[in-house]
Amino acid sequence: MKYIAFCSYGKDSLAMIIKIKELNMSLDEVVYCDIRFDDEPLSGETPEMREFIPKADKILEEKFGIKVKHITSKWNFKNHFYRVKQKGNHIGDNYGFPYIVGAWCNARLKMEPIREYLKQFKEPVIQYIGIAYDEPKRYERQRTKGNICPLVDLKITEQEALEICKKYDLLSPIYESSFRGGCWFCPKQSLAQLKWLYNNHKDLWDKLKSMEKDSHNTFKPNVTLTNLEKRFKKEQL
Ligand code: SF4
Repeated sequence: MKYIAFCSYGKDSLAMIIKIKELNMSLDEVVYCDIRFDDEPLSGETPEMREFIPKADKILEEKFGIKVKHITSKWNFKNHFYRVKQKGNHIGDNYGFPYIVGAWCNARLKMEPIREYLKQFKEPVIQYIGIAYDEPKRYERQRTKGNICPLVDLKITEQEALEICKKYDLLSPIYESSFRGGCWFCPKQSLAQLKWLYNNHKDLWDKLKSMEKDSHNTFKPNVTLTNLEKRFKKEQL
């Protein structure tokens, strides 16, 4: 049996890894899927997270002897965005921005490389997933897949996960400067978070906005980034 923990560097996955080590549970590998924006390669993480991840890796190695394995997809957001669709709706068009439901980026940039990675193991793999006790819906989905959610088993809530990370200086900056984990180009982020991106990382915002003309769909349902930018500018005034 192989025991693999998936890490996003958010509070829940880091608290889960800490608890696994504190409780001496079986753990063979910790894996992070590094989603990229383009061929540069520019990361999908916000600059704050980009700075935090190597620091967290260092702490995990020094305090727990864990070397986090970073994997990445053969695709990135930009080259898949410009891929021409061969099936489904909009055949002949670019993939364009991912839809909020059934986002292609989650399938191509995250789940596919994880699946590929897991294929190498001949033995059965048990996945540890960082879901807190107060997220019952997400837990139910993982339970039916046979994965283990140690924070749920230990009844550790999101707030407690945050405190556990703080204790080891492993609390990610997203809890101070932004709103949720995930890519800075995520179509699922809130308007408040997009506004944060516009105000704090205009260079990234501009990269995303420059792709808008090549997408058959708008970034958010019926809302363009150009219109959002006008709105954010007005709000600043
Ligand atoms: S966080 Fe958002 S943009 Fe990144 S892979 Fe997931 S759905 Fe796609």
